[in-house]
Amino acid sequence: MPTDLSIALAAARAAARAVQALGDPQLFAAGSVIDKGVAGPATVADIASQVAATITLRNAYGDSVRIVAEESLEEVEALGGDSLLALVATAVCAAGIDCDVATARAALAGAADHGGTGTFWAIDPLDGTKGYLRGGQFAIAIALVVDGQPTVGVLGLPRLSAVGNGTDAVTGGAGVLAAAVAGGGAVQTPIDHWAPVRIAAYQWSRGDPLRLAGSVERGHSASESLESRAAALGIVEPVRVDSQAKYALVARGDADAYLRLSPTPDYRECLWDHAAGALVAVEAGCIVTDSRGISMDFSTGRRLTQSQGVICAPPRLHAELVAALAPLVR
Ligand code: AMP
Ligand code: MG
Repeated sequence: MPTDLSIALAAARAAARAVQALGDPQLFAAGSVIDKGVAGPATVADIASQVAATITLRNAYGDSVRIVAEESLEEVEALGGDSLLALVATAVCAAGIDCDVATARAALAGAADHGGTGTFWAIDPLDGTKGYLRGGQFAIAIALVVDGQPTVGVLGLPRLSAVGNGTDAVTGGAGVLAAAVAGGGAVQTPIDHWAPVRIAAYQWSRGDPLRLAGSVERGHSASESLESRAAALGIVEPVRVDSQAKYALVARGDADAYLRLSPTPDYRECLWDHAAGALVAVEAGCIVTDSRGISMDFSTGRRLTQSQGVICAPPRLHAELVAALAPLVR
């Protein structure tokens, strides 16, 4: 009997293979990248990844499974249509999953749940699209959410090395999966085979340099302000990395904390940008709250309407960061 974790891992691997089948995004043909305005870009790889993951989940649980995924059929129809879906279907087939344009459409239509209460899957098929296009990190994030709490979380990180620090993280590696089940700890495994190794956050103490993970994209997070406030705790070493790879770096001790604060006060984080990564970090020994220290509530739909930003760190450092950042967030 496959477990929810094994199905999530299979979905993330299928998604990663579909992304890989599309090759180097810097060589993408015109029409392979669509502009969703303030929501940023989406590429043929975002769509193919979502279709591959969705089909894997629907094959395992049936078509009535609830899936909340970032990309919408409406946007794909409006901005790409059949020619984009044909490229998607080819990549999904190359990942070993039967797919044609009609199947891709059905998969997108079947991943449009709004979340909220109850049990559903949250998928960010390609978190950090700007990083992906730039040659930086990106993540395939898949979480099972039950009554507002992630219970399974998988991050597919095709460009992350199995070991390394923030510098390796930016230059790329062979690919890993970071995974967690609530109450069961967190592991990392090479992306293409199951050889799990337990991961745990580094217990930062005063006197250590403070390795703070934050966004590369300046418009996504007020990283400079966060780092200058955190400097009250010691010397700050920024680890600027795209996507939920930041959660994985903290979870395996390659960064001490992940901080996020939108430069715009009304921005609310998306469910799929945090559900999987937050569980991986929690199971590696971190506390994950919003920037005011309030627990994350994943039962509010596609946006985390009750949360602002993120503080992810092991308990003692988390408490120090909540106190240090308070003047920025009140
Ligand atoms: P990162 O590389 O951590 O900045 O993560 C990329 C994510 O940032 C994307 O998945 C977007 O959902 C999210 N994002 C886009 N615009 C903003 C914004 N203005 N503030 C915060 N996050 C954003
Ligand atoms: Mg995202």
